[in-house]
Amino acid sequence: MILDVINSNEIKKVDPVFGQLSFDNHEQVVFCNDKDTGLKAIIGIHNTVLGPALGGTRMWQYANEWEALNDVLRLSRGMSYKAAITGLNLGGGKAVIIGDAKTQKTPELMRRFGEFIHSLSGKYITAEDVGMETADMDLVREVTPFVTGISEDKGGAGNPSPITAYGVFMGMKAAAHYKFGSDILEDKKILVQGIGHVGESLVENLVNEGANVIIDDINEERLQEVSHKYGVSVYRGNDIYSEEIDIYAPCALGATVNDETVYKIKAQVIAGAANNQLANEEKHGRILKEREIVYAPDFLINAGGIINVYAELEGYDKQEIVRKTENIYNTTLEILEKSGSNGITTNHAALNIAKSRIEMRKKENSK
Ligand code: NAD
Repeated sequence: MILDVINSNEIKKVDPVFGQLSFDNHEQVVFCNDKDTGLKAIIGIHNTVLGPALGGTRMWQYANEWEALNDVLRLSRGMSYKAAITGLNLGGGKAVIIGDAKTQKTPELMRRFGEFIHSLSGKYITAEDVGMETADMDLVREVTPFVTGISEDKGGAGNPSPITAYGVFMGMKAAAHYKFGSDILEDKKILVQGIGHVGESLVENLVNEGANVIIDDINEERLQEVSHKYGVSVYRGNDIYSEEIDIYAPCALGATVNDETVYKIKAQVIAGAANNQLANEEKHGRILKEREIVYAPDFLINAGGIINVYAELEGYDKQEIVRKTENIYNTTLEILEKSGSNGITTNHAALNIAKSRIEMRKKENSK
């Protein structure tokens, strides 16, 4: 059946699932529906060669189901490469729940969702993402062991966001070293877009380093709170992408580097937490490279969170989590240098390494 679907803001005529541009040989896509709780969710399992597919659950009011499907396909693919490049024995998966996290999330809905995860027998392990809290993972934990990011008093590693922010900070410093010749961020003008769980922690790291931080969010209350807490200024213009800054840190949602923004961006470095920052990896990655804007691949520098939840599975201590997260600095630098010497985009350079690790393991597994 041929349908109209929304993909990267373009209307395309493609087959519903396997024909989507975002479909990347995903192993399994599970549609979950429960009338009683109103649950409508999609679990995307991209690749399990390195291990069980681990990735957070996002609850979002998508404009339509195609947008939700597209999101889960892109996000789960990103998780495979994130785990691979970080050296973790995990596959890539992700889940989306369609709905408003503020008004439609109930304990019953979360437990029902947990039962669907349980039915996959550990092939998919969930965690928090946008719209989810540690308390929600505790509810999922009541019905399945295949969940991470549960609260510390229940044996979990707690909220992963501060460690994600620390990894982004490390990746940003490496990108600054590559672009400006020094990783010291003091006095650098850095715009943090989205000051939620990760964004706020990143602001804290940057302020401690003496950076000149500007914040942006759609939530005015958060802006006031974070601005007062850290003494940082709030962006009040009407075209954020044209702002004269040194570093742009996207920490809200993905696809902010797109056809409309890619030629406007004045920052010399892009390094943030949001997943899938490039609306079109190839095209926008190439334009950034041509414009000599250093893009630190999102799936590489926002891996702190997955390192943190992986620790729950492997029983790592905090020191090991911090050590692995700090290593994001070295990996980022290696990738930026490979991108420079091989004339390929930074995203491409990172993907090459991640894909070759998966391929090598696939060969070993088949011996
Ligand atoms: P969050 O929901 O706590 O924060 C997101 C913030 O972005 C909110 O304050 C929201 O108001 C703001 N926002 C939304 N749309 C915006 C817009 N158009 N412009 C400006 N601000 C906007 O989410 P989070 O946990 O901080 O995650 C942020 C991003 O990082 C997400 O893309 C997430 O997938 C990614 N990420 C998070 C983790 C983690 O450990 N939490 C790990 C890896 C990646």
